[in-house]
Amino acid sequence: MKTIGLLGGMSWESTVSYYQYLNRGVNETLGGHHSAKIVLVSVDFAEVEAFQRQGRWEDAAALLAGAAWQVQEAGADMLVLCTNTMHKVARQIEKAVDIPLLHIADATADALVMDGIKRVGLLGTRFTMEQGFYKDRLEAFGIDVRVPDKPQREQVHRIIYDELCHGQIVPTSRDEMLAIMEELVADGAQAVILGCTEIALLVNQQDTAVALYDTTAIHAKRAVELAIG
Ligand code: GLU
Repeated sequence: MKTIGLLGGMSWESTVSYYQYLNRGVNETLGGHHSAKIVLVSVDFAEVEAFQRQGRWEDAAALLAGAAWQVQEAGADMLVLCTNTMHKVARQIEKAVDIPLLHIADATADALVMDGIKRVGLLGTRFTMEQGFYKDRLEAFGIDVRVPDKPQREQVHRIIYDELCHGQIVPTSRDEMLAIMEELVADGAQAVILGCTEIALLVNQQDTAVALYDTTAIHAKRAVELAIG
């Protein structure tokens, strides 16, 4: 079995989900007492969040490139960056290591293409929803990506940073998130991407008839497939 390298802590609340998905995923296939071989480097999210807020993306890239190097040196065969947003600097991180980075948007796009989804709603941080690095990557697979309007984007961003990254699950925020998803579907989306690794802590498939694509689960599944071949 190959060793999965996690670059986590963004936030640690969702890195916990990765750890569970990876171990459960390996065990579902191999059974017995099998679990995933994992190395984890977990950063201090306050440093990353400050760089994001200040638009200091090259500083964030340098921090994560250094952490990615540590993941490789710890013996990982592949790199899993446990956040959608920081894939903004995926190129710089890839340059710092020799092991492959499993891009979260590619794994998600593959899942959508496989299910025949052509038009999709995207929820995530405002960086993910508004900047090209994520949407363009999905659109390269022939997928039409829709995002909520500005006030809704601000609301989703606020829920992520002020609540979910602190482990707070607020029922009224769940209702707001569900209403935003339903609006995306009413506007023509066939499904909605949970394009932030914490959103599934708040909303999951049992809460809605809208088809959800949880990037954390999809990303972890790809890592498991590669790890056990
Ligand atoms: N985990 C989140 C994501 O998937 C947001 C936190 C971050 O900025 O990394 O985008």
